[in-house]
Amino acid sequence: MTDIAARLNQVKQRIQDAEQAAGRQAGSVQLLAVSKTQPVEVIRASINIGQLCFGESYAQEAVAKIQQLANVPGIEWHFIGPIQSNKTASLAEHFDWIHSVDRLKIAQRLNDQRPADKAPLNICIQVNTSGEISKSGISPDQLAELAQQIRQLPRLRLRGLMTIPAREDDTEQQRLPFRQLRELFETLNAQGLQLDTLSMGMTDDMEAAIQEGATIVRIGTALFGPRRK
Ligand SMILES: *Cc1c(COP(=O)(O)O)cnc(C)c1O
Repeated sequence: MTDIAARLNQVKQRIQDAEQAAGRQAGSVQLLAVSKTQPVEVIRASINIGQLCFGESYAQEAVAKIQQLANVPGIEWHFIGPIQSNKTASLAEHFDWIHSVDRLKIAQRLNDQRPADKAPLNICIQVNTSGEISKSGISPDQLAELAQQIRQLPRLRLRGLMTIPAREDDTEQQRLPFRQLRELFETLNAQGLQLDTLSMGMTDDMEAAIQEGATIVRIGTALFGPRRK
């Protein structure tokens, strides 16, 4: 078995074990393979063993890969990095999902720039669950207003919330920001928002995120090893 197949199996096993430990249905957590900095050959090798959802953080690098893999049926691209205004057109054109929307101006640009022949762009709002430590993500007290505004944009489909918490080694500590995100998600749904996605959990904290209800985990290092220069 190739290295990458072995790693993919290990990660899938971790997800399955965590689903079971949390009393959740098998298959309720989707694996997003974070391929940023990895060459297109690594993505091809993953596709050959059945992985079709990929996460990228840098627009220019991502678009080059997306174009090289344009003929792969069923491939799905998720943008998870910080968004600059001058990159929104390219993101709106090439991606299926954007996980890192944290302000209205960016959402409006993505809405205006989403090509008419494509399905509405799937959106997660990135929430800052770490207070002062983090600069990205909207603060929890401004979330409901942004969600209502994004909901009005016809070329976007608001799917859920995403967070990147500050690093913690202890699992119980790791769970706190994920729990906060889930509670915000439940509050929005109680207000009628019909969200179905909690994008949370990376290589070092996916078990904690799955305990707290993650529906997508974003995994790079455990699949592909250290990031390349
Ligand atoms: C790089 C990155 C990941 C993957 O992190 P690993 O710890 O390598 O699994 C997940 N989410 C975001 C937003 C990232 O930028």
